[in-house]
Amino acid sequence: MAKITRRDFIRMSSVLGLSTALPALSGCSAADDEFEGKVLIIGAGAAGMSAGYLLAQRGIDFEILEANTVYGGRFRVNKTFTDFPIPLGAEWLHVEPEMLDEIINDETVEHDIELISYSPEKDVDAHYEDGEYSEEPSQDGDIKFIGSSWFDFYDEYIVPSIREKIRYNIEIVDIDYSGNQVQLTDKNGNGYTADKVVISIPMKILQDGDVAFTPALPQGKQDALDEAVIWSGFKGFFEFSERFFPSALSFADSGTTDGQRLFYDASHGQQGDKHILGVFSVGAQAERYQAMSDEQFKASVLGELDEVFDGIASQTYIKHMSQNWNNEPFARAAYLADSSPRWISDEMATSVDNKLYFAGTSYTSFWDWSSVHTAARSAREAVDELTGQDNLLAFTAFITFLTAR
Ligand SMILES: Cc1cc2nc3c(=O)[nH]c(=O)nc-3n(C[C@H](O)[C@H](O)[C@H](O)COP(=O)(O)OP(=O)(O)OC[C@H]3O[C@@H](n4cnc5c(N)ncnc54)[C@H](O)[C@@H]3O)c2cc1C
Repeated sequence: MAKITRRDFIRMSSVLGLSTALPALSGCSAADDEFEGKVLIIGAGAAGMSAGYLLAQRGIDFEILEANTVYGGRFRVNKTFTDFPIPLGAEWLHVEPEMLDEIINDETVEHDIELISYSPEKDVDAHYEDGEYSEEPSQDGDIKFIGSSWFDFYDEYIVPSIREKIRYNIEIVDIDYSGNQVQLTDKNGNGYTADKVVISIPMKILQDGDVAFTPALPQGKQDALDEAVIWSGFKGFFEFSERFFPSALSFADSGTTDGQRLFYDASHGQQGDKHILGVFSVGAQAERYQAMSDEQFKASVLGELDEVFDGIASQTYIKHMSQNWNNEPFARAAYLADSSPRWISDEMATSVDNKLYFAGTSYTSFWDWSSVHTAARSAREAVDELTGQDNLLAFTAFITFLTAR
């Protein structure tokens, strides 16, 4: 019989939908959870907020320590550029809409977030290469938020139950887990103590060595940090007086092992009358934009569009803005390269000494390490493990596995 690991069991149980059903099946409540100590969560992005939310549901004492002055991390939005929220980081829902219910994790709550997918009847994906322009019906499976965003979803459904637990301007620089409890120290020398800690600090910051661990992290994690290729990130948004562009416009360098780049209709499905084109870029493609001045970036995008659409971009241009994720001190990059080997995120997801738990977009045993939904799922894994629920999950998955054979 092939060796099955605990994480395989958990993965299997989540595929079978058992992770949601289990508390109900087992009659498990907060009072049944094995763990009753204090948890500190580092970071108030998707993973940190999801972890706090799930701990709140289970009645466990926790606090979230956030380096920034706001929550949200890499799904920040701009609400002044146009008449709908502009997602500066995460924009699309890459999986089925039921994911939002999975994140809410409460059958009594029904959300009213409006979503829109792409339709092959109405939407067009175009490609431009070597002077040739081609179009085909959109096959894009991604989903966009209408008049809303990933940030707004968390703001409305997750933040209310954790708002009072988030503390800002606390940049953790030292994590000492040598004793029975974990001691955290922030940049100003202030100390914080917990029985267990959930770390959702972005991987680039750990890779840069900005957080000291005592004792040092296990060799497997250090190897993962050393070998990880973390893509740079840059987005831009352009307003035009006309919509002359398709749902998506790709180029020869749109999908390479070094990075990605895409122009797209950012106003897709929105109810206003503004025409906003988005520029998405990660990896080497983002670095090309990052090396430009703002004027050069504008000239580069308008120049490419003018070439494809006979000069109409320059004639209809109104304004633009950009977001460079490498310049954000608490993110410093976009995310782990899509082409990364699976073992890196798997290794980063493992807990250390029953005291440190990793939750974040790159700390996941799920396929896909660059999305909000994986950050949320990784938080669930960390909280299940931390509270001892994963043993129950593993046991149930094991029984399911045996009976299925
Ligand atoms: C350009 C771009 C486009 C993207 N597009 C999509 C998309 O369309 N769909 C999608 O699903 N995902 C997308 N993503 C990925 C998505 O944004 C991330 O996967 C997700 O938001 C990461 O959540 P997280 O909690 O792991 O990390 P983060 O959101 O980065 O949260 C980490 C938090 O930790 C805080 N922090 C950092 N260091 C410290 C410290 N030392 N002490 C205390 N706090 C600290 C940070 O301030 C931050 O709030 C995109 C990302 C980028 C950059």
